[in-house]
Amino acid sequence: MTTGELKKVRAEQGATLDRYMSSYPVKLGALARELGVAGIKVSSMPTGVSGQITKEGGDYIIRVNRNEARERQRFTIAHELAHFLLHRDVIDSSPDGITDNVLYRSGEPEQIEFEANRLAADLVMPKALIEQKLDDDFGRVVTDATIESLAASFQVSKAAMEIRLSTLS
Ligand SMILES: [Zn+2]
Repeated sequence: MTTGELKKVRAEQGATLDRYMSSYPVKLGALARELGVAGIKVSSMPTGVSGQITKEGGDYIIRVNRNEARERQRFTIAHELAHFLLHRDVIDSSPDGITDNVLYRSGEPEQIEFEANRLAADLVMPKALIEQKLDDDFGRVVTDATIESLAASFQVSKAAMEIRLSTLS
């Protein structure tokens, strides 16, 4: 099943999304830039903050916490990109945009965070690619080693891949 968020974004950005979501690891930085994000900065941020998206002088900038693991930073970039695609009005209405803590809570309504997390998972772990790899490489048998290998291929944390697989099966 395709999530509602992905369907909505695909209606407008289908060709770009399809191009980026057809090979792994998904090139998130290039995808974000092509969709209109001006820059992604790996920044010094307070402990407990994972990422932020702001509008600065007309440009949308994503920041991720330099102290977090690279896999974690990738999911955060996807989460902020999802806010950019789905919740631009929310970003625009605050001078500080949206700032997410380590639980991807921002003080905005929870629904917004659920939507961003679902779209982020779709973007960084495309369903079709995962299912194809599960078929081709693992005979659809999911073990701990399968999860570890898939997480490495898609450059996400093992925990993120485990959650993703549980929603696909
Ligand atoms: Zn968020």
